Amino acid sequence: MIALIRKVIIIGSGPAGLTSALYTARGNLMPLVISGFQWGGQLMLTSEVENYPGFPEGIMGPDLMSLMRKQAERFGAEFIDDNVTNVDFSSAPFKITIGDDIHEAHCVILATGANAMWLGLESEQKLIGKGASSCATCDGAFFRNRELVVIGGGDSALEEALFLTKFASKVTVIHRRHELRASKIMQERALKHEKISFLWDSEVLEVLGKDKVEGVRTRNLKTNEESEMKTDGFFVAIGHKPNSEFLKGHVDLDERGYIIRKNWTQTSVEGVFSAGDIHDYRYRQAVTAAAHGCEAAIDAEKYLEAKGVE
Ligand code: NAP
Repeated sequence: MIALIRKVIIIGSGPAGLTSALYTARGNLMPLVISGFQWGGQLMLTSEVENYPGFPEGIMGPDLMSLMRKQAERFGAEFIDDNVTNVDFSSAPFKITIGDDIHEAHCVILATGANAMWLGLESEQKLIGKGASSCATCDGAFFRNRELVVIGGGDSALEEALFLTKFASKVTVIHRRHELRASKIMQERALKHEKISFLWDSEVLEVLGKDKVEGVRTRNLKTNEESEMKTDGFFVAIGHKPNSEFLKGHVDLDERGYIIRKNWTQTSVEGVFSAGDIHDYRYRQAVTAAAHGCEAAIDAEKYLEAKGVE
């Protein structure tokens, strides 16, 4: 089924997509947001957000996203909570397929963000949902008074470790170097926390356990010495991968899959714009993603004006 041709379709519904939706809706462009099967993006998996301006006491990630969605809906943005299966940007109007339905639009804003990465060990993959997790906020409460490990040395790893101390009796951060990549404030909080300890210069070779996580086998990268550690939960926080698989061959991507922008927010296709973590591997903040969403919406509006799309 082909519906009416939209002025703008936004794919993705994190801070970038929802801010694009707000601006284009308020600009009377009546956007359709294809928000994903699990709408809301990474902030739906976050607990307290303390660095989004305007919330002096902080706000829970899912609450922030609900407010952003309501604000866009107030100005007429429409939502389909489903995943895009295919796109065709070869000529305008652009085609976006969801199952059997094709949606057409004069311009498109891509804002599908990025997802957490895994180590890729077979033992890890077998134990996902059985003690192996990439989301402390989602799964932390299952581990009251348990001992846990967190893999990584960036802000995500320390944020997860700090969050897990609310439930766990002990959290060990396993990091492949002896220097943390995380910001100084997060380092200070984690390093002085009585429940958090660090296993430096180490990689995980295997997650142990058959039906549930029971431990990890690690190797010290300096001495090559292997050892085993008991743990009830295994949390991976080693970075993110852009959700751009469906865009391969349709817009230019770099070798990691991030969108390459050509002209401000425009992608390699005129009329197709990008916003948020789908192109931004540097800042990756809710507030920067929201700003990109605003920029893409303004560029889309100018593009439609220039094309004379009524
Ligand atoms: P990140 O900064 O890229 O850190 C990833 C960490 O995982 C690094 O310590 C890296 O080790 C390690 N790592 C990567 N691949 C690995 C592998 N295969 N095996 C073992 N370890 C591996 O990613 P992030 O922590 O997700 O943060 C991403 C961005 O979001 C950053 O800009 C960060 O500041 C921001 N962020 C901010 C907050 C906050 O302000 N509250 C919270 C979360 C994230 P190396 O250090 O050795 O490379």
